[in-house]
Amino acid sequence: DEKLMLNIHITPYNNDQRLVMIRDVTEKHHLERVRQDFVANVSHELRTPLTVIHGYLEMLDPEVYPELSKVEKPLQMMRQQALNMGHLVDDLLLLSRLDAKDPAHNGNKKDIDINIMLDSICAEARVLSGEKNQTILFHSYSNKTFCGSEKQLRSAFSNLVFNAVRYTQKGGKIDIYWKETDENLVMSVCDNGPGIEEEHIPRLTERFYRVDTGRNRSQGGTGLGLAIVKHVLEMHGGYLNIQSTVGKGSEFSCYLPKS
Ligand code: ADP
Repeated sequence: DEKLMLNIHITPYNNDQRLVMIRDVTEKHHLERVRQDFVANVSHELRTPLTVIHGYLEMLDPEVYPELSKVEKPLQMMRQQALNMGHLVDDLLLLSRLDAKDPAHNGNKKDIDINIMLDSICAEARVLSGEKNQTILFHSYSNKTFCGSEKQLRSAFSNLVFNAVRYTQKGGKIDIYWKETDENLVMSVCDNGPGIEEEHIPRLTERFYRVDTGRNRSQGGTGLGLAIVKHVLEMHGGYLNIQSTVGKGSEFSCYLPKS
């Protein structure tokens, strides 16, 4: 009962002729759908057991059960890993919903005051950046609101800000901008961190793609952050631009259409 899907390309050929190419992509679409459903189901099914594991681990508190003090360290590690896995499952679920382009999961669109949103993301990020002695500054050059899904945009912007905190060294500087050009509203995150080699840049938004340096591995992200950012922006008619220079820093800019 799968609908027939065809890709049709028409190109000029000689003077008054056209070349028509028709490709049957039904099977390709079907496989893509199966993959999406599989990922969505697996992430959904992993959630319940994870919640139970996490809940019980929280209850195993050495302050309540002194006999557990001997295993406090392993318990702490188990709690941390359950938390990490929770983040991974949440990210997978979010991505598969974005992937399905399902209007039901498109989020409720409304006018968002991006200045308020970025202010609050910066406040959250400062908790982490303070430990690393980093400075986060927010520069706003626009009062324009943007009509979109608040949850999705917050998730995209947070990913970029937290990446900057995570990958930038102690004492580093992170600047966040909200501005407008003739055609776009632009949110950018600039850091003076390690930068990224050019060859990696086009692949950063692939799922689970991480620049494999020993340092990055220990930072403990899910490897899905930039894939989420790209999908969220595309859902809103925008795109992500990445500029980076090794040894100088990186700039991640989200371009959103002006309404
Ligand atoms: P992760 O969970 O690994 O952070 P992302 O998709 O968010 O996954 O990022 C992919 C990779 O891009 C990261 O593993 C890291 O190597 C690189 N990266 C992202 N942001 C920065 C940044 N601000 N500075 C340097 N490298 C970065």
